[in-house]
Amino acid sequence: MLYKRSSELFVEANKVIPGGVNSPVRAFKGVGGTPIFAKEAKGAYLYDEDGNRLIDYINSWGPMILGHAYEPVVNAIIEKAKKGTSFGMPTELETQIAQLAVSMVPNIDKIRFVNSGTEACMSAIRLARGYTKRDKIIKFSGCYHGHSDSFLIAAGSGLSTFGVPNSPGVTEGTAKDTLLAAYNDIDNVRALFEANKNEIAAIIIEPVAGNMGCIPPVKGFLEALRVVCSENGALLIFDEVMTGFRLAKGGAQELYGVQADIVCFGKVIGGGLPVGAFAAREEIMNYLAPLGPVYQAGTLSGNPLAMAAGLEMLKALNADGDIFKRLDEKTAYLENGIRNVLIEEGVVFTINRVGSMISVHFDANPVYDFATAKNGDNDTFKKFFHGLLNRGIYIAPSAYETWFITDALTYEDLDFTIAKIKEVAKEL
Ligand code: PLP
Repeated sequence: MLYKRSSELFVEANKVIPGGVNSPVRAFKGVGGTPIFAKEAKGAYLYDEDGNRLIDYINSWGPMILGHAYEPVVNAIIEKAKKGTSFGMPTELETQIAQLAVSMVPNIDKIRFVNSGTEACMSAIRLARGYTKRDKIIKFSGCYHGHSDSFLIAAGSGLSTFGVPNSPGVTEGTAKDTLLAAYNDIDNVRALFEANKNEIAAIIIEPVAGNMGCIPPVKGFLEALRVVCSENGALLIFDEVMTGFRLAKGGAQELYGVQADIVCFGKVIGGGLPVGAFAAREEIMNYLAPLGPVYQAGTLSGNPLAMAAGLEMLKALNADGDIFKRLDEKTAYLENGIRNVLIEEGVVFTINRVGSMISVHFDANPVYDFATAKNGDNDTFKKFFHGLLNRGIYIAPSAYETWFITDALTYEDLDFTIAKIKEVAKEL
């Protein structure tokens, strides 16, 4: 495959955009080489600026769950755009999508729309702090909740009480209120509560982690977090930016039968437009301005184009009684295929999967937290990534990312992918 034009465009981009990209994960830093510039996409396929067709396993990092340029969404955006693109006033559409979201997701009465997953998580934390009148939060090493300061805290030693900022610009004052725990380690969480009595406002967690590859919660972990939060007067925040409207209609709460106090959304809920949202039961949401004291706002929040796109997306997911089963089956088929060919070719690996989130770790041992995720063989991943890219298959350019399966993929696409993985595996 040829990437001549992508390379030229990257040179130009670098002159005016830091690193040539508007979000660092796009830069291919983890795998080397030049990012591919997208030109257009339809269904399961991306078409790049050099005219290559790629089967897309990133899907805009999750939202294109029904495929690219899904017609009802595209049409809704076009129709809305003709009537004005932003008003800064309430619209009926906002209530309609809120009603639908509240009807699909368990344990929420009210929802507020924002412009990104980052904003959703940042606002959820502020709300939790305002509601509990406490400052500290627990986050898990390897979980990503957007780029707001409180979340950019690296994994310290497993049981460290205070986080260490991992990005210049995050102050120590902010970092000290973010306590780090190891994913899937309930004793670690209990110890933090013990050491910070009546100080912890909330635990925030990706109920299925997707930002250190895909890591499922071990049996009973989410349930235990629920209990610890309730016992200690802290709120449990599920960051369902990846899992929401993807693993089930009601996201991870529904899948695992665990009740969160605040739920954050992004990606799918905007049908590919810049949207996020956070939601909770009425008593908590009424703490938000203008009803309550916790301030949160946005000129473009509830933007009509984004709401129109999101409403069509949610309607489609709500109406299709089979969608989550179908996605699970397609991804299970892919998982089995990958498993078989990697075993046949003698590659050492672990595959983690929940529904339509899947990742291949190049390590023989179980991957259940950030420390184990880091054991993967990155050189093998790089070869795997470029081998697939050169054969027309686009997975995330990092060993720490999850693949997102779209319903637009056919079994033919999956068979093609598995066959190409076999070819690449021979070269690893
Ligand atoms: N939370 C999770 C679980 C995410 O995966 C992401 C982004 O990938 C975010 C929050 C941040 O969302 P956004 O990139 O829309 O700000």
